[in-house]
Amino acid sequence: RFVFDLPEGTSSGLTVASALVCKASKEGECVNDKGKPVIRPYTPVTAPDVEGKLELLIKHYKGGAFTEHIFGLKAGDSVAMKGPIPKHPWKANEFESVGFIVGGSGVTPAWQILQAIDANPQDKTKATLIFANVTEEDILLRKEFEDLAARKPEQFQVHFVLDKPPSGWKGPTGYVNSEVVKEAFKKFNTTPESNVKIFVCGPPGQVKAICGPKKSMKDQGELTGTLAELQYKKEQV
Ligand SMILES: Cc1cc2nc3c(=O)[nH]c(=O)nc-3n(C[C@H](O)[C@H](O)[C@H](O)COP(=O)(O)OP(=O)(O)OC[C@H]3O[C@@H](n4cnc5c(N)ncnc54)[C@H](O)[C@@H]3O)c2cc1C
Repeated sequence: RFVFDLPEGTSSGLTVASALVCKASKEGECVNDKGKPVIRPYTPVTAPDVEGKLELLIKHYKGGAFTEHIFGLKAGDSVAMKGPIPKHPWKANEFESVGFIVGGSGVTPAWQILQAIDANPQDKTKATLIFANVTEEDILLRKEFEDLAARKPEQFQVHFVLDKPPSGWKGPTGYVNSEVVKEAFKKFNTTPESNVKIFVCGPPGQVKAICGPKKSMKDQGELTGTLAELQYKKEQV
């Protein structure tokens, strides 16, 4: 978790959902083989109105160009940021329920939207999170999700799916498949016949298996994989 100071009395003001792009703050640091700055998008996990700080949750890739840089920084160092990079513009009550199928650090946009729903008492959208990880230790923001589901069980539920579960693990295991999705989405009736939206965010292999590879950042392209099998329509994903 990387926490950045914002000038006193200011907040990020980013829209939900959105990301921002980061690069090294010192010229010449963290550049690619053409000498150009390495620029990577990240999804802040602090709500847009939180004053004085902005937090990023970043997975460390060994050999990753930007993550090696940021994990090498010390407290007090800075990073250059630009944003927002708008994603799905969240509107309260646009859908009866939503589902998130995410993996690893792909959970950050889901957390942004869940926080926005939670913070708005008028927003009655129900939400299910299916969060896949390799091991139990890999589950990011676990306490935050569990607290949310415990506080508002009629509005939020969380299913952690593990590839390598510890002995005694009671949740689903292996890769997320149609059985896991169908079972998890039952509680809030997040079915293809209802007014729903399913958000998928994770490593390319997972995204491909759940909904097919996206055509571009803004276009789902043809819907295939698990969600097509379950009869969801492209517009619902
Ligand atoms: C909209 C958006 C939001 C995002 N939000 C987040 C977030 O909130 N948190 C988060 O952690 N990530 C997020 N990401 C991912 C993030 O932008 C970066 O892709 C990620 O941090 C890796 O960047 P990197 O420069 O360290 O790795 P890269 O250098 O891009 O490498 C990625 C992987 O490929 C491997 N690799 C690199 N070069 C080679 C090579 N030549 N051959 C084989 N393998 C290689 C690296 O070891 C690493 O495993 C987001 C991405 C998008 C598009």
